[in-house]
Amino acid sequence: MSTVALARCENYEYENVRPAVQKGIDLLGGPGMFARSGEKILFKPNWLVADPPEKLTVTHPMVFKAMVEIFKTTGATLFYGDSPSIQSPEHAARMAGFLPIANAEGVSLADFKLGKEIVFAEGLQNKKFVIANGALDCDGIISLPKLKTHGLERVTGCVKNQFGCVPGALKGEFHVKLASAIDFARMLVDLNAFLKPRLYVMDGIIAMEGNGPRGGKARPMKVLLFSADPVALDATVCRMIDINPEFVPTITLGMQAKTGTWKKDEIELVGDPFESFVDKEFDVKREPVQPYSRGKGGTLLRNAIVPKPYILAGKCTKCGTCVKACPVNPKAVDWHDGDKKVPPSYRYERCIRCYCCQELCPEGAVELRVPFIRKLLGKKRKQKASSTV
Ligand code: SF4
Ligand code: SF4
Repeated sequence: MSTVALARCENYEYENVRPAVQKGIDLLGGPGMFARSGEKILFKPNWLVADPPEKLTVTHPMVFKAMVEIFKTTGATLFYGDSPSIQSPEHAARMAGFLPIANAEGVSLADFKLGKEIVFAEGLQNKKFVIANGALDCDGIISLPKLKTHGLERVTGCVKNQFGCVPGALKGEFHVKLASAIDFARMLVDLNAFLKPRLYVMDGIIAMEGNGPRGGKARPMKVLLFSADPVALDATVCRMIDINPEFVPTITLGMQAKTGTWKKDEIELVGDPFESFVDKEFDVKREPVQPYSRGKGGTLLRNAIVPKPYILAGKCTKCGTCVKACPVNPKAVDWHDGDKKVPPSYRYERCIRCYCCQELCPEGAVELRVPFIRKLLGKKRKQKASSTV
């Protein structure tokens, strides 16, 4: 049986966040269950990019502050860090509002710029990773994900949060190698199994819905979730926002890999009532991801059924982030004839649908559109109500 604790928190005022975090940790047995005196403990937030907390891309710094205060009592030495996709960890720490808190509390930024190659023989999809030194040098990780939608994997959550332990641009190589959302999710499960955080604390106080994980809209959920089981926590969030957990590959593959359980009768919910957080209007794609293979058939299938990224010219500021983020060579989204006065354009035959362009666009100007053929064929599977799964 896995336990997921729920704590209501109205907003990011510290006087509200601190007791809510304390409540969740205490419901799981207290901080001593996850850290001991003399250990090095790493807090791993979600810094997809160096954005300020108001953009909701990152884990809120008040959650971090509360965690630091609570875990200082264990006598462990605390560190923090993450590796954003396109900027430095230092810049992200500053922009996300973590730096002043960490400096005041004497918590050091771990090394997320450089890493070492490790072999993980048990990996189902991936047996080798380069992992940031900061994640390798600690005794234990406490993962601090953010509740957001995600173009490739439906929701970003606990299992996916450890992808930031792969330093910087190396992340793009996984997208090229593992273009299918299923293979990519299996790799994320492997990575999580290797890093094995001791505890997951998800910031769902104000979540991101719609065009996430960077360009979506604010959705107050007023919840913090706590668990040592990342699959159980992610599945609980799915039920909360009314998406079938089976539509999120990191959940089903995570259960297959014995990372945790998504089965309702194997999850004990404690704390504030689950029903009080359920939001059936939460804007998330309620359908399975589309697996496809490589090669000619794979490309045809991909173009026919897998949603395409599309730039809304009216929102585009021509910043070039999408071009920089596109991991394929030659680029599938690029400046047309080098002209940076008009939005970049797509070459869909090159596009592997990794959605890095949509994920990182700072303006929410990249949308994912379902191809006409797929709409015509009525491929969209109706989901079962999440309350029944
Ligand atoms: S990242 Fe977004 S705003 Fe920037 S060029 Fe691309 S589409 Fe335009
Ligand atoms: S265009 Fe966008 S979705 Fe296509 S490969 Fe490049 S980053 Fe990925």
